[in-house]
Amino acid sequence: MSAQVRIESLVKEYGTLRALNGISFHIQAGEWVALMGPSGSGKTTLINILGGLDTLTSGHVIVDGVDLAKLSENDLVRYRAEKIGFVFQQFHLVPYLDALENVMLAQYFHSVTDEAQASEALKRVGLGHRLTQLPSQLSGGEQQRVAIARALINQPKLILADEPTGNLDEANEEIVLGLFRELHSAGHTILMVTHDPDIAQQADRRIELVHGHLAVDQRISMDDGIHFDHLLEQIWVRGEEGKPADIEHIRTPGGLDPVRTLARMEDLRLVEVLEEQLIELTDRGKSRARDVVRRHRLAERLFKDTFRIDDHEAHSQACKFEHIISPELDQRICSFLGHPTTCPHGNPIPPGECCGHKKGTGG
Ligand code: ADP
Ligand code: MG
Repeated sequence: MSAQVRIESLVKEYGTLRALNGISFHIQAGEWVALMGPSGSGKTTLINILGGLDTLTSGHVIVDGVDLAKLSENDLVRYRAEKIGFVFQQFHLVPYLDALENVMLAQYFHSVTDEAQASEALKRVGLGHRLTQLPSQLSGGEQQRVAIARALINQPKLILADEPTGNLDEANEEIVLGLFRELHSAGHTILMVTHDPDIAQQADRRIELVHGHLAVDQRISMDDGIHFDHLLEQIWVRGEEGKPADIEHIRTPGGLDPVRTLARMEDLRLVEVLEEQLIELTDRGKSRARDVVRRHRLAERLFKDTFRIDDHEAHSQACKFEHIISPELDQRICSFLGHPTTCPHGNPIPPGECCGHKKGTGG
């Protein structure tokens, strides 16, 4: 399979400063890649070069078969309009054009304007009722959704997003991420700059730049999440038992190297490995561990009480179930079982939102 994006030995110099210092990697069609790295490491430079907003000093950048180094200024304008959808941290909407006109402006650069299609694109991002508002009359989240509609209007081969949720509150971040998840499942290729490890984890792959070099290129698999959950669960249970969680007492599944796995979990800010190899859950890790333990114990209760499955089998089934129960199903199982407080072995089931509600209405 030939890659949609091929970057070979890419160098970008601004005067004597090397912003990109010989970078090579490929992106396959349909991949969602998270681009990370400290401020000044070259992320925006890379995005701008890929999007034809800036030129490269040496190396090759080939997008959808087009060698960007060979394009003239005019060719680059066409390339941008035809192949690239940009989403920036600052939304870059034209302030005196309304939402619909902002999207139609993107069509104009593509030499067709089609109002019905533009309004359809805005409906797709949930803004069908906001067509005639000016950017100043829209919230930050809504402005970013207009920007996404604008980016999508020409069916771009590649979506480049530079910290698209950097200026949004949590609720709008979730809406915008939901849109990116949809774009990903619809088969779009996405390269997204983000500082947030949680967002990066939703991508297929994480690339990290440091001082213009490629420092990490890592595929994120479903299995990783499951392995992390197993470790989080063990650390949580050690805590319940009042025992320290040190590396020696934690079993890593699937023959994984414990030190490297824990280092990745540290990157994701799930745990902290202290001196003497002691592992501590961060707030983020605690909340995720708590949810896994809850799902596991609810599943055990369900198998044991409802299906009369024996202890051993209930435990092993619960180990599989804890990874596939959604938050909605978790609450339904909990309600179905009458909000149990302990698992069949007498260990506490951390209460969920549904349990608090029950307590509230009960007095
Ligand atoms: P990031 O997006 O990872 O924060 P940038 O790609 O914006 O990093 O910047 C990488 C380096 O290139 C920085 O040292 C920055 O100061 C420099 N740089 C970026 N754009 C320009 C420019 N137009 N002129 C000169 N230097 C620049
Ligand atoms: Mg940047």
